[in-house]
Order: sequence, then structure tokens, then C-alpha cells
Amino acid sequence: MNENDNSYTALKEILNNLGSGIFVIDKSTREILFHNEIIAKMAGRDMVGCHCYDFHYNGMAEQCKYCIPLKHKNYFAETFDEKMERWYEVKYNDITWVDGREVSLCNVTDITDKKKYQQRIEFQANNDFLTGLFNRMRCEEDLQICIMEALSSKTKGAILFIDLDDFKHINDGLGHQYGDVLLKMISVGLQQIKGIEKRCYRVGGDEFIIIIEPAVYSQMEEILSEIQKLFSKPWYLGGADYYCTMSMGIVTFVDNGSDVNDLIKKADIAMYEAKKSGKNKSVRYNKGGDKNSYIQLDIEKNMRSAVASHCSEFEIYIQPIVDVATECCAGGEALIRWNSRKLGFLSPGDFIPLAEHMGLITPIGEYVLKQSCMLNKKWSDQGIDIHINVNLSIVQLLSNNIVDNIADIISRTGVRPENLVLEVTESLAINDMSRMKNIIKEIKALGVNIALDDFGTGYSSLNYIKQMDLDIIKVDRTFIRDIAEDDYAKAFIKLIAELSTQLDVQVCVEGVEDEKQLAVLKELNIDMIQGFYFGKPMKVQEFERKYLSL
Ligand code: C2E
Ligand code: MG
Ligand code: MG
Repeated sequence: MNENDNSYTALKEILNNLGSGIFVIDKSTREILFHNEIIAKMAGRDMVGCHCYDFHYNGMAEQCKYCIPLKHKNYFAETFDEKMERWYEVKYNDITWVDGREVSLCNVTDITDKKKYQQRIEFQANNDFLTGLFNRMRCEEDLQICIMEALSSKTKGAILFIDLDDFKHINDGLGHQYGDVLLKMISVGLQQIKGIEKRCYRVGGDEFIIIIEPAVYSQMEEILSEIQKLFSKPWYLGGADYYCTMSMGIVTFVDNGSDVNDLIKKADIAMYEAKKSGKNKSVRYNKGGDKNSYIQLDIEKNMRSAVASHCSEFEIYIQPIVDVATECCAGGEALIRWNSRKLGFLSPGDFIPLAEHMGLITPIGEYVLKQSCMLNKKWSDQGIDIHINVNLSIVQLLSNNIVDNIADIISRTGVRPENLVLEVTESLAINDMSRMKNIIKEIKALGVNIALDDFGTGYSSLNYIKQMDLDIIKVDRTFIRDIAEDDYAKAFIKLIAELSTQLDVQVCVEGVEDEKQLAVLKELNIDMIQGFYFGKPMKVQEFERKYLSL
């Protein structure tokens, strides 16, 4: 081919514009007969007249004994050039050159972008977009491999199924963007735990799975304690510290099965057991546990339809609250019961946590509040002004329109707001003091009283009581149980009683079951008590008859 030839110039032009590198090697001499500009750029110089091995081996033909163009008529490969950090597609094809020589035509295309795109697609298929952790699909694939490993080496592995406790509160209370930040922080934290770095998966909104491979099974206790540690410290979100605990289900394989989906389901069941037994726990799967979970599914289904049919299956029971000094009824606490047509009679402990989890606590809670207000208004109309206490779930408290809802119910029922006591609990998940303070301030502005329920079981922070401007502290019944014998319990209640005067709050002790306990509380100057000694929660009519003489 003559360089002055017009057709040569035209060919060169075409080859330069191809977008990929082209070079031609004489198969017998390995001399480079031609290359386009892209190859010159890659090599950093003109290579015509050099040999193909000069590309990589700087003239050392010997090193290049596996020379591709010599060995192959057609060849295709994708290679990564570490120096350039780029991916290339390399194709060699034997052709007859313009002057009749047998040559190998090589085409080198930069496919880095395509590769990156492919990797991204692969990443998306395997990973969770938000946290960068692997997703459920990848979890199932990896688990399959680990199960095979355990089977063939006759070793053990485990699945940890983690579900965050009350994540909904963070999301509802602070907004989704903070929920997302928390999920990311947790993901980073999990991936830093030795032994599970590459075995953490996000499989649902706030659900994570961790696979303990057979190789690290012996370190399981350490791993578990590292995970506990991760969740025992607060997370810094939007300017404040938040605690977020988790419930964990653990299932080992292959002693509990060797089917991927079956094992994940078992871990999930164990996790639900942990939730039910009070959250912030881990529970190992045991074979007898399945039955409960079917009941659980039943409760879910029936609760939805019970709420959809105007909550008519829910009934309010009232438990008297008694003034210690006079031993007269000072009011009553409304406690919900569910007379399910399908499931029978259920106590709040059986369905309230689930209702919170499913977001059904808001309509149920509103129903209780409305019924209680109507009842109290009826009593007022008959000349009896006593308190009615209604429990507010933290989920309700943090919902956006809680203050408007309460105001609306007060005005529609005509209840005297000063008769209404709303019981709230401290929550580990939310300690955004300023937000809680504002909500409580707005509720109190309606003329309603606020009681802190179950005091002594959560943070029991006196600071909280002071800042929240609460009216009543309800001491949890765990403190009264052994008060006659337990000095610590007695000292605790005594301390609360003394501080309550300074803080200007009233104290109500829950769970009083006998006369001995009552005597101790009288001695300690407690204002109010509630407990089976005076009366169990009872039907409204019974309460009205016994305590209000109606
Ligand atoms: P709580 O608000 O602390 O209510 C007191 C619970 O202690 C009631 O259980 C009551 O039956 C029980 N109790 C009272 N006196 C005694 C006693 O002397 N000995 C013993 N062993 N127990 C006593 P209950 O009715 O099962 O309610 C459990 C919890 O369910 C309540 O605790 C409250 O947190 C929640 N709950 C009940 N109704 C509602 C509701 O309408 N909305 C919300 N959000 N939660 C509710
Ligand atoms: Mg209560
Ligand atoms: Mg209580």
C-alpha cells in the first residue's frame, strides 16, 4: 500500500474515525504494518515498523511466545489494563492485507463505560440502593452457598434476622430523610463488625439479615455482642441523640433445615418472638415456635377488619384510680379489650404492640379516646366530675395531627378537658426533647392533664418530668410487687414521692394488690393508687354501678 495512494488516505481516515484502535500485524514477521491514531495515543508513539511485542514487552520477542495473532485466526477477549485503569475489548481476525500478505487485524475498543454500566446494573440487582448493602436476592444466593458449605464440611452456620424497634417512630417523628440516615449509619456499623463484613444484607424497610458463615461460626458470640454494642449507643440525628434498639431472630443451619426460604422464615419467626416478648431482645428459633406465628398472622388479618368495621369489636374497660387519703374513687383508667369474633377475647398486651407496628394504633387509639370522652361527659352531666385516663401510644403522640385530633374529640364530645388525663410513656426511640415538649405543651394548652405512665421502666429521667411539665407520675407496678420486703423498691417510691412535691406533680402507684402494700404507700404519702386491691379493670356498667352509684 502506498502512502500517497488516495485510497490509502481514505482508509486511514475511516480507520481513524472508527472510535476504536486498529492495528495490523504481519503474521510471519510480527511487524506492525499499520495502526490508527487511537493506537498511537495508547502507545504514546508511532508504532509502525515496530513489532507487536514492543507493545508490552519492549522488544523482548521471547517473552511474547504466546503471541495471540500467531496462534489464533479469530480471537476475542475483554481485558483490564491496570496502568490505564480501563477495560478493553480486543479482537484479532486473520485477513489478507491490501498487498496480499497474511495479516492479523486487531481491533481494540475501550469498553470502560459499558463495563461500569454493567457493574452498576449488577450492583443494583444485588444491592440495596439506599445503604449499599447486598439485597434480599443476593442474600438468598449467598445463603445457598453457605448451606452447601455447611452440608459438605458437616459444620454449622447461622442467620441473624434483625428488625429495628420502633423505626416507624423515627420516620414519623423526624421525617424519612432521617430514617434513611439512620439506616445508612446502621449499615456502616454492621459492615465494620469482624467476620460479617461481606455478609450483611438489607432485606426490607428496617430489616437486615446477617449470615454467619461456617468459617466464622465459632465467633458467633463475639459477633452477637458486637451487634448488641452497636445498638446500645445513641445515633446522632438532626442535632440530637436517638436510641434505636432492635429485635433479632437467630436460626442455625443445617440443624434447622437446609432450604433457603424456609430458614429465612424461621429466623423471621424467631425475630417476631423477640418483638412480642418486649423488643430489644434476641431469640433463637425453636421448633415449637411456629404455632404462635400463625396466630400472629391471624391477629393481623382480623385486626385490620375489626378496625375497618368501626372498631365495634373493641371495648373499653375501666379500672378505678383511688385517692389514698380518702380511699375514694378519683377516676378511672380506660383500658382497651378486643372481643374478636374470630379469635375470642384479647388483652391489650396481645395486640397493642402489633397495632403500633401495623399503624392501626391511631384509629384504635382515637376510638378509645372518643368513647372515653363521651363516657366522662355523660358522668359530668349527671353531676360526677372525675378523671378519665386514656393511654396514648407514642406512635399516636408523634403523628402530625395529634393535637388537632384531640381538640376535635374534646369539642365534639363536650367533655371537660380538665377531666381528661392522657397517659404517655417515655420512649427510648424518641428523645427529641424539644419536639416532645412542644407537642405536650400544645396538648396541655387544651386544658388536658398529662401523666407519665410506667415510670421506672424506661429512662426514668426526672429531667424529663421537669421539662415536659407533667401533672402525674404513674409508678410502674414492678416497684410495688415486693415493696413490703424490697428496700430498694421502697426507697425508689419514697424518693419519687419526695421529689414529686418539689416538682409539683402527683404520684399514682400502679399494681397495688394487697393491704400491706397499701399501708406502706399511705406511710409514704402517695397521692393515688390503682390496682387489683381496689378493683380490676371492669366493664363500664360495672364501674358506674360500683364506684359512681349510677
Ligand atoms: P398500663 O397503662 O400501665 O395499664 C395498667 C395495666 O396494669 C392494665 O393492664 C391493668 O390491668 C394492670 N393492672 C392494674 N392493676 C394491677 C394489679 O394490681 N396487678 C396486676 N398484676 N396488674 C394490674 P392491661 O389492661 O392489660 O393493659 C396493659 C397495657 O396496655 C396498659 O398498661 C397500656 O400500656 C396498654 N393499653 C391498654 N389500653 C390501651 C389503649 O387504649 N391505648 C394504648 N395505646 N395502650 C393501651
Ligand atoms: Mg396506662
Ligand atoms: Mg402503667
